[in-house]
Amino acid sequence: MGNGAPGSVSTAARGGAALLRLAANKALLVALVYLLLGMVWILWSDRVVEALFEDAVQLTRAQTWKGWLYVAATAVLLYAVLYRLLRDEATHRLRQQRQREDLDLLNQFRESIIDNANIWLNVLDAQARITVWNKAAEQISGYRREEVIGGDAVWEWLYPDPDYRADIARRVRAILDEGAEVEGFETHIRCKDGQVKTMAWNQRRFFDERGQVGSIAIGQDITERKRLQEELERMAVHDPLTGLYNRREFELLAARRFADCVEAGHPYSLLWVDIDEFKAVNDRFGHQVGDEVLCGVAGVLQAVVGGQGIAARYGGDELVVALPAVALPEARALGEIVRQRVQAARLLADCDADAALTVSIGAAQRDAAMHDLMALASAADAAMYRAKAGGRNRVCGPA
Ligand code: GH3
Ligand code: MG
Repeated sequence: MGNGAPGSVSTAARGGAALLRLAANKALLVALVYLLLGMVWILWSDRVVEALFEDAVQLTRAQTWKGWLYVAATAVLLYAVLYRLLRDEATHRLRQQRQREDLDLLNQFRESIIDNANIWLNVLDAQARITVWNKAAEQISGYRREEVIGGDAVWEWLYPDPDYRADIARRVRAILDEGAEVEGFETHIRCKDGQVKTMAWNQRRFFDERGQVGSIAIGQDITERKRLQEELERMAVHDPLTGLYNRREFELLAARRFADCVEAGHPYSLLWVDIDEFKAVNDRFGHQVGDEVLCGVAGVLQAVVGGQGIAARYGGDELVVALPAVALPEARALGEIVRQRVQAARLLADCDADAALTVSIGAAQRDAAMHDLMALASAADAAMYRAKAGGRNRVCGPA
């Protein structure tokens, strides 16, 4: 794996050929100089020896010594040259060997980093086949490297849906063919054990030492982070006890629908629900039972008006339902169903067979004088107080 540009191999080959040519030329030059010196020596020394010795025997002996002298001088020279050459070569080889060892160590180090990184790391070749699959990739996906290396079957396993897979494959091709990059791209993978995990990917293209295109992908398992994020988002808009919308979210959603209905000239109603004698429930049976009762009432409310309205816990034992495009008679009828079902649910039966739990409900519809949701809410709240004053366990409308 590396980022070398394509074509670096042929540049290296050209450099090697030039060096070889230079070495051959140098060797030729040395041989020519040797030849020339030899010729000069032979001609010059022959003349000198012939001038010095007239006696044939002495001349022959002198020429023999002259030959020995030449051989000895050549041997010394050859020794010096060869020693230098061989010493340089040995040093060069030693250095090469050390470099190879360093490179091996570096590669081992690199591989161990890739393998032990606690992020998913995989490398693809030009055909999107897996060439590197680290330990984290094995641990997250459940697929061992022996199963995935050299093939592309893993895409079918990780992304069983053909349309989703085709979309991912298009993105990978864009990375390999056009050099596109992705950062923080999220996908859902199906692991070997059937679990679905959310992954965030950084992926880009690279060229290896031989100029071959590939891509490196770094994946982070963000399943838990996503779950927490969703949980936080849910908590921000929902009441943790009942699961209904909280007051803030209710005011936001209901006000938005209120404005829509005003503009469209549609009716808009609101139910204000308050548990009767709830404090006494807490006092008699404990807070825990009180919580369960609250949840029970919220469940009934959601079941009756869930699809039609926006149900929320406004605070304490007060629950509200906004009913966009619903007129007062229908709203009162829904309120009546809620009242009856709460009573029929006998939410305190486990604690005391005779204890009844009921709710009082106020219903109101937007009229021309109500310019915002709060005005309508006040009207429904006032209607609820009339229900309390009227003896509780009833639904009241406007005065
Ligand atoms: P009323 O019929 O007039 O409504 O009588 P009430 O006792 O229900 O009076 P009120 O609505 O004023 O009392 C609300 C009580 O609700 C007071 C508080 O103890 C209880 N309450 C508020 N929030 C919670 C909660 O989250 N859990 C439980 N268990 N009780 C709560
Ligand atoms: Mg109450």
